[in-house]
Amino acid sequence: MSDPVVSADVMSLAGELGAERSKPDWSTFSLAINDDQREIRDWAHTFAADVIRPAAAEWDEREQTPWPIIQEAAKVGIYGLDMNINLFVDPTGLLMPLVHEELFWGDAGIAMSLKGTGLASSAIFSNGTPEQWSQWMGRCYGTPDDVRVAAFCSSEPGAGSDVSAIRTRAVFDERTSEWVINGQKAWATNGGIADIHVVVATVDPSLGTKGQAAFVVPKSEVRGLEQGTKLRKHGLRASHTADVFFDNVRIPAENVLGGKEKLDARIARAHEARAAAGTAASGAGASGSAGRNASMATFEMTRHIVGAQAIGIARAAYEVALDYAKTREQFGRPIIDNQGIAFKLADMAMEIDAARLLVWRAANMSAALMRGETPDYRHGEGSMAKLKAGEVAVKVTEEAIQILGGNGYTREYPVERMHRDAKIYTIFEGTSEIQRLVIARAISGMRIR
Ligand SMILES: Cc1cc2nc3c(=O)[nH]c(=O)nc-3n(C[C@H](O)[C@H](O)[C@H](O)COP(=O)(O)OP(=O)(O)OC[C@H]3O[C@@H](n4cnc5c(N)ncnc54)[C@H](O)[C@@H]3O)c2cc1C
Repeated sequence: MSDPVVSADVMSLAGELGAERSKPDWSTFSLAINDDQREIRDWAHTFAADVIRPAAAEWDEREQTPWPIIQEAAKVGIYGLDMNINLFVDPTGLLMPLVHEELFWGDAGIAMSLKGTGLASSAIFSNGTPEQWSQWMGRCYGTPDDVRVAAFCSSEPGAGSDVSAIRTRAVFDERTSEWVINGQKAWATNGGIADIHVVVATVDPSLGTKGQAAFVVPKSEVRGLEQGTKLRKHGLRASHTADVFFDNVRIPAENVLGGKEKLDARIARAHEARAAAGTAASGAGASGSAGRNASMATFEMTRHIVGAQAIGIARAAYEVALDYAKTREQFGRPIIDNQGIAFKLADMAMEIDAARLLVWRAANMSAALMRGETPDYRHGEGSMAKLKAGEVAVKVTEEAIQILGGNGYTREYPVERMHRDAKIYTIFEGTSEIQRLVIARAISGMRIR
C-alpha cells in the first residue's frame, strides 16, 4: 500500500513540472505529421500504387526509361520543379522523405527515373546564382507536354569515391569567352538522354577539389557531347545509366554555376591559403577544417533523401513478406506461426522504423535553413541516415526472399527485383564505407583514412 502523503507530493510535483513543460519551448519535439504533409504523402502513395507499381515489372524487364509514366507524373504534378520546391520549403524537412519513401515503395527503378533529375536541379540550386536558377532549373524538367530529364555528371572511371581524382577539364577560352570541356563521365543517371547535364570539371588541377566547378551543359545547344555505353544493371533497371563523353564542348562563360567572377576569386583564395599554409601551419589548419565542415554540411543536407528511397524499397518488401507469411501454409499452419519467421518479420519492422527515425532526424536538421537556423551536424547525421537505410534495405529485401522461399527467388514475385534495386543504396551517393568514414571523422575530429 502506498503512503497517501507521499502520493500527494508526487502528484503535486508532477502537476508543477507538467505545467512548466507544457510551455511552447518544451513541446517542440514531435513525430506527428500535419494535415498538409499527410495529404501530399497520400497523393504520392496513390500515384505509386495506381501508376508506378503496376508498371514495375514491365519496365524492369524492358530496361528503358519509362517516358509515359514520367509524362503522366508531370501532368498530375508529381514530376516537375514546382513539386520539388513544394517539398523543399517544408520547415520540418519531412515532406521530402515522406514523398520519396512512397514513390520508391511503388518501384525504385521508375521512381529513380522520376527523381534522378533532382540531382542536377539540386546542384544548380546549391551552387548557382538566382539568375541561373531561373534560367536552368525549369529546363531540367521540361513541361507536361514536353517532359525532359536532367543528369548530374560527377563520377568518372577513375574518380568514384575519390572526387579529387576528377580529370574532366574545363578551360576558359579568353578569345571567345567560352569554357571548353573535355573528359569522360561514368555511371551518369540520365546521362546522354538528358538535355541539361550538370558537369563537375576541374579548372585548376593543382588545387584538387578546391579547383573544381560545376557547369551547365545543355545538350541541345552544343556539339561534342555524346552518350557512351548505356549500362546493363543488376537493379534500378528502369533508370537510364550511361557514360558521357565531352569532346571540346563549348559553353558560354556564364554557364559555370555561381559565376566566373566568384570562381576566379575562390581559386585565388585557395592559392593564397596554400601559400600561407607553408608559413603559418596552424592558421591553415583552422581554415582547412572550416572548409571541410562546409562541404560536410552540403552533403549531409541531402543524404537522408536517398535513405528515404531505400526505406521505401524495404517497406515494400516487408509488406509482401508479411502478407505471404500469413497466407502460405506448411506443416498445416501459416508459416508466420513459426517464431523463426515471425521474429524475422519483427526485426524487419523494427529496422525499417529505426532507419526512418534516423532519416527524419537528418531531414529535420537539413530544414534548419528553412527555419532561419544553421544546420548543426555533429556526428555525420545525414550519413548515418543514408548508411543505416541502405543497409536495412539490403537486409530486409534479402529476408523477404527467404520468407517467400522458392517463390521469392522468381520474377513471379516482386521481392527479387526489390532486392536487386536495394543493393545500389550501399554504393551510390557515397558507399557504406565512405559514410562510415564521414561518421568516424565527425566523431573523432581526426582525419581517419
Ligand atoms: C546505378 C548508378 C547510378 C549512378 N548515378 C550517378 C550519377 O547520376 N552521377 C554520378 O556522378 N555518379 C553516379 N553513380 C556513380 C556512383 O556515385 C559511384 O559508383 C560511387 O560513388 C562509388 O564509386 P566507384 O564505383 O568508383 O567505387 P570505388 O570508389 O572504386 O570504391 C570501390 C570500393 O572501395 C571502397 N572504398 C573506396 N575508397 C575507400 C576508402 N577511403 N575507405 C574505405 N573503402 C573505400 C568503396 O566503399 C567500395 O566498396 C552511379 C552509380 C550507379 C551504379
